[in-house]
Amino acid sequence: MSLRTRLTVAFLLVVLGPVLLGGVFIGAVADAFVSARATSRLDDASRSITSSIVSDCQEMRTAAGFVGGLFDVDEEALDSIVTKMSKTDPITAVTVTDADNEVLSQAGQQPPASGVVSCGESRVEPSGAITALHARVDVQGADAERYAAIDVWRPVDSDYVDHLAGETNGVDITVDDGRSDFLTSLSSLQLAKTSLAATQRSDDVETVGAENDYFARKVRADRNMPMPLVLTVESARIDALGPLLLIAAVLATVVSIGAAALLSRSTTRPLSDVAAGAEAIAQGDLSVRVPVQGSDELAALARTFNRMARETQGYVNALTTSRDQLRGQLRVMGQTLSSTLDLGRILEVIVATAKSATGARSGIVMLVDRNDPSKLVGNTSGMLKNHNLEYVEGSLGQVEIAIGDGMLGGVAADGQARAGRVEDIEPGTFVAHEPHGSTYIALPIVALSDTGIDALPYGDAGGLLGVLAVYDRFGGDDFDEDDISTLHTFSSQAAVAIGNVLSHQEVQRLSLTDPLTGLWNYRYLQVALAREIERAARFRRDAAVIALDLDRFKNINDTYGHLAGDVVLAEVARRIRSQVREVDLAFRYGGEEFVVLLPEAGEYGASVVADRLVEVVREHEITLPVAEDGAVQAVSVTASLGVAVYPMHGRTGSEVLAAADDALYAAKAGGRDTWRVAH
Ligand code: GH3
Ligand code: MG
Ligand code: MG
Repeated sequence: MSLRTRLTVAFLLVVLGPVLLGGVFIGAVADAFVSARATSRLDDASRSITSSIVSDCQEMRTAAGFVGGLFDVDEEALDSIVTKMSKTDPITAVTVTDADNEVLSQAGQQPPASGVVSCGESRVEPSGAITALHARVDVQGADAERYAAIDVWRPVDSDYVDHLAGETNGVDITVDDGRSDFLTSLSSLQLAKTSLAATQRSDDVETVGAENDYFARKVRADRNMPMPLVLTVESARIDALGPLLLIAAVLATVVSIGAAALLSRSTTRPLSDVAAGAEAIAQGDLSVRVPVQGSDELAALARTFNRMARETQGYVNALTTSRDQLRGQLRVMGQTLSSTLDLGRILEVIVATAKSATGARSGIVMLVDRNDPSKLVGNTSGMLKNHNLEYVEGSLGQVEIAIGDGMLGGVAADGQARAGRVEDIEPGTFVAHEPHGSTYIALPIVALSDTGIDALPYGDAGGLLGVLAVYDRFGGDDFDEDDISTLHTFSSQAAVAIGNVLSHQEVQRLSLTDPLTGLWNYRYLQVALAREIERAARFRRDAAVIALDLDRFKNINDTYGHLAGDVVLAEVARRIRSQVREVDLAFRYGGEEFVVLLPEAGEYGASVVADRLVEVVREHEITLPVAEDGAVQAVSVTASLGVAVYPMHGRTGSEVLAAADDALYAAKAGGRDTWRVAH
């Protein structure tokens, strides 16, 4: 059973029950009321008829007394008196009798022989039809001796009955004298008959009539009431009460059902609206709103529901937006990481993604230096710039931090992520130019062992590729656990990407370097020389080439063995590298021949380098591996060098190289352990 049905039924029970009970009650009370009212009317009527008859009798006695007071009236005079009296009093016969009951005189009509009832006597005499009311007055003389009696009569006819009924306020009178033609004020003889019949048994009020629509009561004869009567009164019962009550009940029922339906509808409708809304939300439609009517609890429910839907929609929109942003970022990251081997670009994308994933203002990636695994290097300019932060001042550009130093170096050293506020960190923790914001997360980027990247020559740093840090969350909030775990996940992806690039670079490098000395090989000389001459040509600069050949190297091989020769080659290569700038490139050209390429160097600059190289090769003996007999050996070596300069000694790379070779042989010819410039 639905809530609506239950509410309707409950309302009907609450409203209709009392209404119907009230109807039954009114019905019951109405009967008693009607009957009580009839009783009281009959009581009143009986009293007023009695007093009316008493007063009639009094009048008749007064009239008789008046006659008696006249004494010695002759019949003629009496006649005229009676005639006069009968004009005002309904007295139709008067007799005067003496003490011996002799009629002395008589006037008016002949006194009725039967059917007479006398005032002050309860006897009904005779029992037949009552036709007259009689009163007698004794007249006494001064000697108190009875002198005469005066009798008077008035007719009891329908006029008299009507006269009595006129005093009773609508109650009808029927004389209960057993006659068949009924002396009654009722207009219906049949009703008179049933009234008499109904009161035959008792004096109580009886209901009479076909519809019980009359009440009747018997009034017995007594001293004050000389003739028995039956009083009949029409019931005040409203005939239509039953139907009226029925109609009222039906109306009440209809109205209640209507009201119940309306009430339950207005109560349950908002509920079903909310239920439908909740269903729609369950289906995923967050735009649904339910109508709010009025200001009751249901309206409050609807309003709360709408607010819930609106806020949920807001949250979902915000989530969708941030999800879309994240997807966009991931797409960029995915594309970039998989499509480029440009380390700089990859690091930029890693920093950008880390920033947007955590809401950070800036970030940096510092990688372990491949040449010196004891430090981290990073280029802050591409990552921290445009953030308008004070700490960026002076920290743009290449930054180096020794592993173990500063906050980032500490992360690299112990591999533990750090997060917090800078103000909570002990002063002096940060090294100079180490970037830092007000809040930070820093965590290591560690190569996974199954990527093959741990083959990278990172020495002590192990699988550590570098450190990722983000600074200054937007809004100034601290970074939270979610941010840290997001960055952890992200840093392992970054590790894969960085590892891929590094391994690629390593492979590239290995194919271009000489394994014995670590210098670039002949193959790369071709590329680098062509590129450098091309650039010098474009910018109208010089570029110098120095060719170097060890003197009498064959002897070293012959004397100490090939392995010792290799050691000498590696040491010479190290000495060459120590004497050139970072932009200069050193190559192993062939067996014990080397080439140094000096971009933007002219004849003078190249000569200075050549001079230093001759010196550095000769300067110290080279310690050789311990001989089989345990002897510690060392050997001195010298070299001869040739110097050639673009564009002075050649228009192409190979021309310049050939000129340097020629100069080298000139140096050999000139006695070795020296250098020559090409012609
Ligand atoms: P100079 O140049 O002074 O005329 O005399 P040289 O003895 O150095 O003569 P040359 O330059 O022709 O010598 C080449 C020798 O270098 C031949 C070979 O024994 C030695 N050599 C070449 N490559 C290697 C190498 O990779 N390892 C070793 N140990 N020796 C090498
Ligand atoms: Mg040689
Ligand atoms: Mg040689």
